[in-house]
Amino acid sequence: MKYTSTRNKTLSVTAAMAIKTGLAPDGGLFVPTDIPSITAEDIKALTQMSYAERAVFILGKFLTDFTLEEVEDCACSAYNKVKFETDEIAPLYKLTNDVYFLELWHGPTCAFKDMALQILPHLLKKSVVKTGETKEIVILVATSGDTGKAALEGFKDVDGTRIIVFYPEKGVSSMQKRQMITQEGNNVDVAAVCGNFDDAQSGVKMIFGDAEYAEVLERNGFMLSSANSINWGRLVPQIVYYFSAYCNLLKNDEIKLGDPVNFVVPTGNFGNILAAYYAMEMGLPIHKLICASNENNVLTDFIKTGIYDKNRPFKTTSSPSMDILISSNLERLLYQVTGGDDVRVADWMKELKESGRYEVPDVTKARVKEIFYGGYCDDAATLETISKVHTEHGYVMDTHTAVAKCVYEQYKEETKDETKTVIVSTASPFKFGDKVLTAVAGEGAAEGLDDFELLTALSEKADLTIPASLSNLKTKPIIFTTSCDKTEMYDVVSHMLNLS
Ligand SMILES: *Cc1c(COP(=O)(O)O)cnc(C)c1O
Repeated sequence: MKYTSTRNKTLSVTAAMAIKTGLAPDGGLFVPTDIPSITAEDIKALTQMSYAERAVFILGKFLTDFTLEEVEDCACSAYNKVKFETDEIAPLYKLTNDVYFLELWHGPTCAFKDMALQILPHLLKKSVVKTGETKEIVILVATSGDTGKAALEGFKDVDGTRIIVFYPEKGVSSMQKRQMITQEGNNVDVAAVCGNFDDAQSGVKMIFGDAEYAEVLERNGFMLSSANSINWGRLVPQIVYYFSAYCNLLKNDEIKLGDPVNFVVPTGNFGNILAAYYAMEMGLPIHKLICASNENNVLTDFIKTGIYDKNRPFKTTSSPSMDILISSNLERLLYQVTGGDDVRVADWMKELKESGRYEVPDVTKARVKEIFYGGYCDDAATLETISKVHTEHGYVMDTHTAVAKCVYEQYKEETKDETKTVIVSTASPFKFGDKVLTAVAGEGAAEGLDDFELLTALSEKADLTIPASLSNLKTKPIIFTTSCDKTEMYDVVSHMLNLS
């Protein structure tokens, strides 16, 4: 199978090349030239397999330039009992007879980014060798919280790679900061950047775009790469858990083979829900994909009206990983639903860059609406949903998952659809402990508590075990104290790599 660019269909590269380079040379995103099919027989066979085996089967369909052993090696290094708290890797929780939660946060950093970032380093390392590259890969990350830690955990001690994470001094939660500055591993570095996320991000982009600096790196045997969610290597592992969830429903006799299900996905950059779309196109029986947003509801409007318009105030919400106004992966969906109209996609992306807005024609809009339902919910409704589900079912959700649950209620109310539904749960409630504790224990319950007192209080109130990877942070020494100015980010990189 080959990969092409959403903005230029004449391009044709291998999976290894797409993963190594991350972004197409024309600025477009890599997409597969055709989508492989999975039959009902395949799904039946997958039901008997472990998560890692399911991953090998699905990934093998897309990574045809990898050998079976290579894919196996990647999947087994990522999806095992050392890295994940549970053998099942991505367990389903049954809430009612027709609603289930797919818990994607049992990995090392307690957020769903682990599902992709545990395997990406292995895919990338093999892609580098396959494409004849001999240089050591240096991953640069600017993070607003979850991605940095997940990337550090994924890349730590992976031979042939180094990782440097920049986080904004004022812009991550104290728990997120603690997760990063205590990071272990012989190939990792973490630095705070004075300023906000944009400062850190623009600094990283500047280094990426600097041809002269690239030459210096090359002379020293290094090349830069990205662990960002536009990399195909981050998207493809996410297709696996949609199949896995369906298989678990089958295995538990909740559905019969061929029965359609809905998935509700709390959405930011549109990566997670796009993986569900690919699964559907491959043949997974999906009735509707429900795209849940917080008050940064650009996608809700797009699905309803066909107009994408980011010209609106950016809102800081209690589901920060979804605070985003440019959902990069939507570009891949547009390519697919227009039947691969690269010229149109390139035009829309140009309009987005220039005016912050574009509009798709009725036929495209109708196609999007056939597949997706879009809805959003504000902070008050998010916390109310956490509280209500806790009271009625004794189940505690994080804020992002609660947005999804709330939007599902709206969907059900509006459509009366009775199809069994899986809500994708993207973070452990402990990761956003202050908000969740406030929701279940009342206003003021989280006041004055430090990070670890919060974990304990939530664990008692919600009757849940604190994930070891969070409670362990208390005794971990602080390793990284570097703080730099935006202009000093080069020095941090040069120093870490010992550049001459
Ligand atoms: C990143 C993230 C999301 C959004 O996922 P996208 O793939 O960007 O749409 C949702 N919830 C959590 C907890 C996240 O970390």
